[in-house]
Amino acid sequence: MRRYEKREVTETRDVLAEDVCDWCGQPIDRKGLQSIHDKDDFECKWETGSLYPEGGWGPKSEVELCRECRPRFFTMLEAQGVKVQRGKWEW
Ligand SMILES: [Zn+2]
Repeated sequence: MRRYEKREVTETRDVLAEDVCDWCGQPIDRKGLQSIHDKDDFECKWETGSLYPEGGWGPKSEVELCRECRPRFFTMLEAQGVKVQRGKWEW
C-alpha cells in the first residue's frame, strides 16, 4: 500500500514570460493600446492537416511580429512581387 501525505513542493514549469518578435527579437508590446476599443491584430500562419468536429491536427508555420516589423514585413513581400491587399476593415 502506498501512503500519501500532504507536502508543500516547489515546482518549475514553463510559463509564458513574454512574446518576442520573430524578426528583430524585441518584446511585443501588447499593452500599448490606448483603450479597450483600439485594435491591433497581426496574424501570419499556415496550417494544413485534418479537421474533424471532435478535433484536428497537422503541421503549422507562423510568425509573430512587433509593430515596428509589421510594415517592414509587408514592404518586403511587395518587393518580392506579392500583391498585398490594402484596404479598410469594418465590423
Ligand atoms: Zn520586430
